[in-house]
Amino acid sequence: MTLPNYAFFRGKIVPYSEAKVGVMTHALNYGTAIFGGVRGYWNEAEEELFIFRPHDHFQRLLNSARMMLMDIPFTREQLTELSIELLQKEGHRQDVYMRPMAYFADEIIGVKLHDLKTEVTIFSVPFDKYVSNDTGAHVTFSSWRRVDDNMIPARAKVAGAYVNTAFVKTDAVRAGFDEALVLGQDGHISEGSAENIFMVRNGALITPPVTDNILEGITRASILELAEKEVGIPVVQRSIDRTEVYIADEMFMTGTAAQVTAITKVDHRPVGDGQMGPVTAKLRKLYDDAVRGRLPKYRDWNYPVFEKMVVK
Ligand code: PMP
Repeated sequence: MTLPNYAFFRGKIVPYSEAKVGVMTHALNYGTAIFGGVRGYWNEAEEELFIFRPHDHFQRLLNSARMMLMDIPFTREQLTELSIELLQKEGHRQDVYMRPMAYFADEIIGVKLHDLKTEVTIFSVPFDKYVSNDTGAHVTFSSWRRVDDNMIPARAKVAGAYVNTAFVKTDAVRAGFDEALVLGQDGHISEGSAENIFMVRNGALITPPVTDNILEGITRASILELAEKEVGIPVVQRSIDRTEVYIADEMFMTGTAAQVTAITKVDHRPVGDGQMGPVTAKLRKLYDDAVRGRLPKYRDWNYPVFEKMVVK
């Protein structure tokens, strides 16, 4: 993967090679970091890079920080401005993935959350697809269970909790699948390894509620809004049983990285007729138009990077 040229690190933008931490760093030893994943989309016609819903992403980061007793000395608006400055300096003219992170920076021994120093860093890299087979993914049910909210906050993006994700993803890929569906402790489907999940059944779009140990996805929120307002399909947030997916008409996963990935097979069983369904196809198109700034009604989701070029 191409390395970034710059990073926001210890309060300023520095060459990426200078953004280094010591091996005793608390977050490296105990997983005590929180992070975000934000995409920037290049719009060729406007020659502009649009960050997708940065305020919502940064609000979630601040919420994660709150749960972890981290002090982030920036507002979501300031974090957006910092990101714009960083992306201007990188000068990307292509789709990018941006990673804001807050971590406990103390170089000490001791597992805890209190009385520690928080540092914030942001970097970005060019980025294309995350799930390569995003028009017809074959998924399995993971033998792993999703991290429960009473173990590590499921609605926070805590670095340490992503060991759970890593087990899920590696076992699925090594078994020949594109992705996996992860059950919670109670046996209901929580989400994918790093995606929220949706199914279409009997004319309704259904997704697990925020109380089923999911990460409260920004893509999920965008899809719920687009489905209701633009596709006109009823949306329902309720728990999903394992065997419901075997008789679902359509399924897809959503995430900043995965975008809208159609699921056409679960454990060798076709979903619906085994092809991407019409609701999924419509939502994929709407989402792609929305993120690239092509839907005037949703332009407030798109933050231009180069419009307010700061010459420094
Ligand atoms: N669940 C998990 C565990 C994730 O890591 C992600 C990716 N951030 C998502 C769901 C999707 O969230 P979003 O749409 O905000 O990227």
